Amino acid sequence: MSETSACTLTVLDVVEETADARSLILGVPEELGDRFDYRPGQFLTLRIPGAEGRGSARCYSLASAPGVDPDLKVTVKRVDGGVGSNWICDNVRPGQTIEVLPPAGVFTPERLNGDLLLFAGGSGITPVISIVKAVLAQPEGTVVLCYANRDESSVIFSAELRELAARAPGRLQVIHLLESVQGLPTADALAALAAPFAGRDAAFVCGPAPFMEAVAEALGRAGMPKQKIVLERFHSLSGDPFAEREPVPEADGDTGAAKLSVTLNGNVHEFRWPAETKLLDLLLARGLKAPYSCGEGNCAACSCRVVSGEVKMLVNDILEEEDLEEGWVLGCQSVPVTGEVEISFD
Ligand SMILES: Cc1cc2nc3c(=O)[nH]c(=O)nc-3n(C[C@H](O)[C@H](O)[C@H](O)COP(=O)(O)OP(=O)(O)OC[C@H]3O[C@@H](n4cnc5c(N)ncnc54)[C@H](O)[C@@H]3O)c2cc1C
Repeated sequence: MSETSACTLTVLDVVEETADARSLILGVPEELGDRFDYRPGQFLTLRIPGAEGRGSARCYSLASAPGVDPDLKVTVKRVDGGVGSNWICDNVRPGQTIEVLPPAGVFTPERLNGDLLLFAGGSGITPVISIVKAVLAQPEGTVVLCYANRDESSVIFSAELRELAARAPGRLQVIHLLESVQGLPTADALAALAAPFAGRDAAFVCGPAPFMEAVAEALGRAGMPKQKIVLERFHSLSGDPFAEREPVPEADGDTGAAKLSVTLNGNVHEFRWPAETKLLDLLLARGLKAPYSCGEGNCAACSCRVVSGEVKMLVNDILEEEDLEEGWVLGCQSVPVTGEVEISFD
């Protein structure tokens, strides 16, 4: 069995944000510093312990911003009947340790000194406030944030947003939408709201599925090109990326295995790649520390480039057409198609 790339972090503090949301402040030991470098908008994957050693895992976006907040912060909102969110809110205390996979995700602006339009609904504020703080830490760049919530008491980070706006006059505009006041935001209302900002560099959207659909429709109607709109969908992982992995049998050319050459961290390795084995499973089983997070084809932490040959992805919920054209694939979902394949993670 091969090891996972999980790390152990200490919970420095637990902050009650609202009646049903808590933040965990996580300290990163010095020796793990490099592995926890992150971009605003990325997320961590936390191990949720289960009975008899069986566990599961849940992703939580970083609400902290690199270069701004000294420690990592994730903010978890309870979901009715939810296993992970309630376990975290009920059980995690300062001083405890927690197993975590390093930051991953592509919900992050290409440049932080531009003019952004951000939409957040409920707990969808977590990756969004990270982006807000990162932009405001630059000498230039502005943010318009439309933030939807059930009512005033459920607004996470309301005081922090007020302070951020006060400290950067003219650079952060927060438009609160409260269901208790205006009703649920419709695509019509959102389109009217987005229209004056449709020329901004990019839009980032995170929140409950119906909210995100309404915002995506509204931005389309307001004239913002699709390639400028980045969406982050919250969902629960079905597998457990912390679990021990099954061994991958040795294979040779006679069994239909492909010849793989893979570059990782400046080193070239060669392996036989069995036809039905996913690239990430093969590399971890052979002792390489290949990057990964969700293991389910939707976070892009394991993305790598096909230099020659061909692979097939079993699932791809994250890479766009232009990524595929440039040769990007997901290691966790790729199986070989041609007899020889050359891959690079560098
Ligand atoms: C990239 C990313 C970032 C995220 N960031 C955040 C964040 O910053 N903050 C945050 O709060 N969340 C975030 N999430 C969501 C988070 O990972 C979890 O999905 C969320 O906390 C719910 O997990 P849970 O274990 O509590 O609920 P689950 O146990 O997964 O249940 C979810 C819902 O499904 C129902 N359900 C479960 N099992 C069944 C069943 N068998 N039949 C019928 N219904 C069922 C539950 O009752 C519940 O309503 C993020 C997700 C992703 C992918």
